[in-house]
Amino acid sequence: MYDVIFLGNQLKEPSLTTLQVDPEALLSCRGRVGDFSLRYRDNGQVREEKTLALVANLDYEHEAGLAGFPTFIEDTQIPEEGNLIFIQDYGQLAPAHINRMGLEKALAAAKGSSSRQVYYFYRSLRFTEGTDDIYEEARQAGVAFFRYEEGKLKVEEPGHLTYNRGGTSMELEGQVLTAPLLSPSPHLEKLARILRLNPSEEGYLQEENVYLAPTLTGRRGVYALGGARNPNSLGGFEEEACYTLEEIAALKNDLQPLVEDEREVDDKKCILCYTCYRVCPHAALEENEEQDAMEVLQEACWGCNGCISHCPAVAISIVGEEEEEKKPGLQVLMCENSAVTARKKLPKNIMDGFISREISCACSLKKEDIYAYLEDSADRVLILGCFEESCKHLEGEQRGQRIVDEVNETLKSLDLGEERVRFERLSPPMEADMKKLLGRWREGQL
Ligand code: SF4
Ligand code: SF4
Repeated sequence: MYDVIFLGNQLKEPSLTTLQVDPEALLSCRGRVGDFSLRYRDNGQVREEKTLALVANLDYEHEAGLAGFPTFIEDTQIPEEGNLIFIQDYGQLAPAHINRMGLEKALAAAKGSSSRQVYYFYRSLRFTEGTDDIYEEARQAGVAFFRYEEGKLKVEEPGHLTYNRGGTSMELEGQVLTAPLLSPSPHLEKLARILRLNPSEEGYLQEENVYLAPTLTGRRGVYALGGARNPNSLGGFEEEACYTLEEIAALKNDLQPLVEDEREVDDKKCILCYTCYRVCPHAALEENEEQDAMEVLQEACWGCNGCISHCPAVAISIVGEEEEEKKPGLQVLMCENSAVTARKKLPKNIMDGFISREISCACSLKKEDIYAYLEDSADRVLILGCFEESCKHLEGEQRGQRIVDEVNETLKSLDLGEERVRFERLSPPMEADMKKLLGRWREGQL
């Protein structure tokens, strides 16, 4: 059992046992933090190794910042003589390490020759710990900084640049070096699939940049470093590597589940439809082949209850809460795009007395699920969805209302009660309305 398996570039840390695996050679990854099992190809053989944690550490792909001009990267040699024009063409925050690298290279160029002029053009500069000192030093060494807006900087031919801003017009001569644009490693698509991670829109192994814990992914114990993660970080690679290795060392010494109450799958009810496997955002469910059913990997579970809401066989529950689940009563289904956000702004006990479930959208509602929630004649279901114009899936509101109307009609025709299901609309900032609705639902006034 290793402490860390690096997929890509390996880092050395004396307190951790490490192994390097080529991401291209990876075949599968099962298990959970503390006990991952990796299968990979090695010299024509399939090997299997166990590890506590995994770090995907790959290089970024570099593209030219301005087409047709050379880029500066770590090992770019800066010419010893002649004017230099650095261009950092990032409209929003430039990746911290690109920003730092450009400032360092401009400073070194200005210090290296007193007969040249160094210009630094940028659309955005990022000041993080250390970079404001480099910026100040570069200014004092004679680097001329200019902020520009899109379209206001024209590099018409190599070495000739025109700049317009607020009445200032300049023509400059010098060698142009542009900051590279970064894109994800081509291995990431395959890695995301095998590691069961939701990649970001740009293709990195994280859906969102996580400023305070920058290398975490959605799967506990799997980290994204270097070119595996979105480059829009506040720190540089060294800080992130240090954070990651410290975090793994801490897990090695004390690995506790994240939530106190365990979720469990009833193997007699599970029909192995794999719905929970697909919807769990944290890859915390796996097939237990001996029991022929799914199993919740406790250390990986974040307790979001997404699997419970989606399981068509009602096979997943919170340990110790079975009795409460079986009690008839008031049920609330909340759309994760509106009501769930509104509920988070209300006190925790606001849901006391209700059986609550989260749904991905009112368009995911199925009549058979609603009938299952209405098993007892005292059961009633309130569905909190989005307004028509703000439904992420465009038709959730209409579909939700239609299903509710059809269920109520059927119940009425069978003499099983009237208006036992309600559909109400909310938006994320409407927590006060949600509180009123829940109060009226509790009092039987809806
Ligand atoms: S509760 Fe959430 S994190 Fe835990 S297994 Fe279910 S879907 Fe996954
Ligand atoms: S969603 Fe329910 S029935 Fe389907 S595999 Fe998961 S536990 Fe089994």
